[in-house]
Formats: sequence, structure tokens, C-alpha cells
Amino acid sequence: MCRHYALLGTHSDISPIHWQYGALARLKKGEKIDKLLYGGYSTISLGYIGIYELTKLMKGVSHTTPEGHEFAIRVMKHLKETVTKWKKETNIGFALYGTPAESLCYRFARIDKEKFGTIKDITDKGYYTNSYHVDVREKIDAFDKLKFESEFQGISTGGCISYIEIPNMAKNIDALESVVQFIYDNIQYAEFNTKSDYCHVCGFDGEIIINKDNEWECPNCGNKDHGKMTVVRRTCGYLGENFWNVGKTKEIKQRVMHL
Ligand SMILES: [Zn+2]
Repeated sequence: MCRHYALLGTHSDISPIHWQYGALARLKKGEKIDKLLYGGYSTISLGYIGIYELTKLMKGVSHTTPEGHEFAIRVMKHLKETVTKWKKETNIGFALYGTPAESLCYRFARIDKEKFGTIKDITDKGYYTNSYHVDVREKIDAFDKLKFESEFQGISTGGCISYIEIPNMAKNIDALESVVQFIYDNIQYAEFNTKSDYCHVCGFDGEIIINKDNEWECPNCGNKDHGKMTVVRRTCGYLGENFWNVGKTKEIKQRVMHL
């Protein structure tokens, strides 16, 4: 709402390409953008992370179990009903957004650890799990994961993405096609994560690993200089290559393969 109030009264002249020439709207010169802040034209998101940790903490089980699933869906529906209520009350397009919280995933976990101590599977990992995602450490196959997460996507309509970790499948395109077909039939938005890193010191082309000290290291020559390696990992919906904070790095390290 702070952002909403800050934007009220803004003139279209502030960015003619957006507000006057059609990128976002075709308002007149000197016109205020206020009417576009209502009625669903623009959105404000309520973001959430850590549905896995919440379920684990409250129910003692992963949200992929029947008991955990029932609880997690109830929480998601409550969040959804809340944004729907806000939407009605304000006429502003509130939306529920499954966020990866690229930096906050670490900060929240750290603050909670200081406050509540070390709790197994919750604050002992150094990160909170992206949105409604299955615990990155949990062994689950690609098809079950996509099917499971698709139910959450239907509730998290302000933004959501699912992904599966796969090995190099350049020699098994048929299998890759089956997964694409499964995604098309079962889930709104999903992607593959695969590793195509490069070491500029020795020319190694494969997976740069995270060592026991949580540093990126070339498995071939031991190079640890970020400036001399290219590492690409999915951080949220996007692929990142600028390295990550300690929490997200730990999360990436823990990811299991789904195929
Ligand atoms: Zn190397």
C-alpha cells in the first residue's frame, strides 16, 4: 500500500514511452496515472516463501504427504482468500505471488535462527524453500513433482514457476520431449534446470561444484575465482549468473536430481 500511495498522483509525462505512447497505456500529456492503479489494471503482490518449512514445523511432515498436503493447501487457500478480500475492499489488483525470495530466503532463515534457535529442517539449513516448492533435498521424480506443484500454481496466480533438476540429456532427446509433453498436459509453467558451466582457467565444461566450504570450485583444476568461471543456475524464474548469497548457495547445493 505504501507503493500504491507513492504512485498516486504520478503524471504520465514521467515516462512517455510507458504512459503516453502505449507501452503500458495511452494517457494524455499531464494526465495522472491514478485510474490505472485501480480495477485490476496493475497489481500488488502478497509474496510468500517456505510452505515446506511451515508444514514441517506445524505438522512434522513434508507437504508431499497426505496430511502435509491437506494443511499446505489450506494455508494457500487462506492466503488466496485474503488477497481476494483486499481486492474487494480496495479495488486494487492484489495477487498471490509464490516468490523465490532470492536474498530474503537467507535473511528470514537467519533471523529466525537467532530468535528461535536451531530447528531441524527449518532453521538448520541456512535458507527457506522457494514458494510452495517441494523441499530441494527431497527425492521425488520429475513427473510427481510437476503434478504435485501444479495444484499450488492454480492458487498462486500472481506468479509461480516450477522446475526440475535434470542431468545432461543431449543424448536422450526423446525423454526430454516426454517431459515437455507432460508439462504441457499438466502444469501451467515449468522449466528444466541443467548445468552448463565453464572454467576459464582450464577449459573444463561441465558442472562447477560447491565445495564443503560452500565455495564455487572447478572440479578439474580447483579454480575458485568467480571472475574466471561461468556458473549459471536457476535462481527463480530466471537463470542467474552473478553468484548468490550464502543461503541461496546452500539451497542450490542441496538440490537433488529429478530425472
Ligand atoms: Zn578449471
